[in-house]
Amino acid sequence: MPAVGEIEGQIREQELDAERQARRRLALAQIRQYPDPVLRMQAKPVEVFDDELRRLVERMRSLMADASGVGLAATQLGILQRLFVFDTGEDDDEVAALVNPVITQRSDDVDVDDEGCLSLQGVLTPVERALRIRIEGRNERGENVSYELEDTTARTAQHELDHLDGVLIIDRTTPEARREALATLRPRVVLG
Ligand code: ZN
Repeated sequence: MPAVGEIEGQIREQELDAERQARRRLALAQIRQYPDPVLRMQAKPVEVFDDELRRLVERMRSLMADASGVGLAATQLGILQRLFVFDTGEDDDEVAALVNPVITQRSDDVDVDDEGCLSLQGVLTPVERALRIRIEGRNERGENVSYELEDTTARTAQHELDHLDGVLIIDRTTPEARREALATLRPRVVLG
């Protein structure tokens, strides 16, 4: 790449970075943070597929993108409906919405990898997940959809589904990693 282009690119990137950082902070401010009790609650099945639901899905897609996430559950916005959005890893970076999702197949093969969560900032903790899953549900228009997922996307979908049942990564990690995560999450005492 020519030098001039590089400089332009860097400047643009710096400007974007500052803007993106600001957008990320704004998005995270709208996402419920541990130990918000709503994160522990069971979400209810969605019964009505209307414009309100579609607006919620659009809001979740844009918050997820702004927060640099790969998935976001409605519970994380304090909305107790069985719904999440996630990056399918398919072409065009499709961000799919899954309403009333159910895992219908799960491989016996599992994998342990570090997971983070937009509701537990600063925590990265090892979680065991099925390597491959089939997950079914509806999209925001009420149409039946199913996805065969593996590796990262399978992990994301299992993580988001957990949110709908009030389950967090600290519940699925080792006792030692859990202690470490809780120490990170403990509110700092500010004196003065
Ligand atoms: Zn999460």
